[in-house]
Amino acid sequence: MTETLHIIGGGLAGSEAAWQAARMGIPVIIHEMRPHVGTFAHRTGDLAEMVCSNSFRSDDSEQNAVGLLHWEMRQADGLIMATADRHRLPAGGALAVDRDPFAQSVTRTLLDHPLITLETGEITALPDHGHWIIATGPLTSSALGAAIQAETGAERLAFFDAIAPIVYADSIDMSVAWMQSRYDKGETEAEQKAYLNCPMTRDQYEAFIDALLAADKTEFHEGETAGYFDGCLPIEVMAERGRETLRHGPMKPVGLTNAHKPDEKPYAVVQLRRDNALGTLYNIVGFQTKMKYGAQASVFKMIPGLEDASFARLGGIHRNTFINSPTLLDNQMRLRSKPHIRFAGQVTGVEGYVESSAMGLLAGRMAASAILGHDLPPPPPTTAMGALITHITGGAEAKTFQPMNVNFGLFPPVEGLKGGRRGRKDRYQAYTDRAKTDWRDWLAQYALDAA
Ligand SMILES: Cc1cc2nc3c(=O)[nH]c(=O)nc-3n(C[C@H](O)[C@H](O)[C@H](O)COP(=O)(O)OP(=O)(O)OC[C@H]3O[C@@H](n4cnc5c(N)ncnc54)[C@H](O)[C@@H]3O)c2cc1C
Repeated sequence: MTETLHIIGGGLAGSEAAWQAARMGIPVIIHEMRPHVGTFAHRTGDLAEMVCSNSFRSDDSEQNAVGLLHWEMRQADGLIMATADRHRLPAGGALAVDRDPFAQSVTRTLLDHPLITLETGEITALPDHGHWIIATGPLTSSALGAAIQAETGAERLAFFDAIAPIVYADSIDMSVAWMQSRYDKGETEAEQKAYLNCPMTRDQYEAFIDALLAADKTEFHEGETAGYFDGCLPIEVMAERGRETLRHGPMKPVGLTNAHKPDEKPYAVVQLRRDNALGTLYNIVGFQTKMKYGAQASVFKMIPGLEDASFARLGGIHRNTFINSPTLLDNQMRLRSKPHIRFAGQVTGVEGYVESSAMGLLAGRMAASAILGHDLPPPPPTTAMGALITHITGGAEAKTFQPMNVNFGLFPPVEGLKGGRRGRKDRYQAYTDRAKTDWRDWLAQYALDAA
């Protein structure tokens, strides 16, 4: 008899994982705690409930990385995408979804499948044998969170994300910024030049503080911080504590010499740190924020060198349980210390409905393949799926790992194309053309086996 796959959490990722595995002939049990145990954000007992916006973001598979991810999931007969398409609402180029019928339809389709069973109830401990996927999302229950933490070590499971904005390296003006680590620290030249620095004069700093203080901010949801928030301060809160606070914190100018103007001492310096192995993304160090997205873009473009910056993602601070996947998971999304357990969805450190569903799709196929007796190689990093899984299981900097949306900065560059803003349209088209070919090939090469 074929072994059963157990999935903890029937959210976006768990639902997609169950669907993919069942299509491969694997019996699946979904363990979902709702409606018996709730979260501060979910309202129903439906599987695949969308907790906040009803948007799957851009549906443009030629110029947008999340649109490409939609396309790849559709090609792989993803349940989440097929159901979203059936319950689509008019929203211009975005894919907006009628959320209640969407979740009810996913629930019905899964429960109608002869190989899928739903068991309602909270799982509070890590299973010690069998085939499991943990897809318990950003609001993983406390008991299970504690069990994961006991296995991984406290420092490898976060209960909040504190996301600093991430900038595409090729959109930074290097005639203003320069590379240098504070006090040139480091053994090698690469370490001594690990940071990208943007200088500010006194006037620029004062204007920046004024803009921070005036910017629109979001609030924490009710219940979101209960017992968890560990005081990782947003920059605007630091600015509220005193106009000089940032200059003595993340924006301190000491130990740095402006390579373009060595005789001019900057009044403050904003530092950016490399965010991925490819060197295509840089995060602004210490700039986690609760400013609204529109406000962030205009405030951060006041930083000299970032006037034309393109952001791969903006900053935020949210309740978000996630593991340090680059150190904890192998490329099969298995927990290295307990390989019978896989992780999928937002808890792996991807961010968003679409990315979470995508990681559910891969984990479901990988787990089902393992039950059928072979490993499914991860898709190539040139695809949106492959770029994401490569990032979370190794491409990202483990020390500064924070949840990530899919974006073109995660893809290996296509050689021979123009950089910067002007070349962007052609570049994105080249990324998506290459991804589509490679995804089709991967799907064909590893066509679903059935038990
Ligand atoms: C407040 C909030 C707002 C968000 N807004 C957006 C947004 O607007 N757009 C966007 O793209 N993303 C948003 N996200 C992120 C979004 O939650 C995720 O992208 C997506 O839902 C994650 O999918 P998932 O399957 O990983 O987790 P979920 O969809 O949350 O599914 C996890 C499931 O596991 C269950 N579970 C948890 N612990 C246990 C346990 N111990 N035993 C059994 N079951 C358990 C939960 O009840 C839940 O059903 C938001 C997240 C939060 C917290």
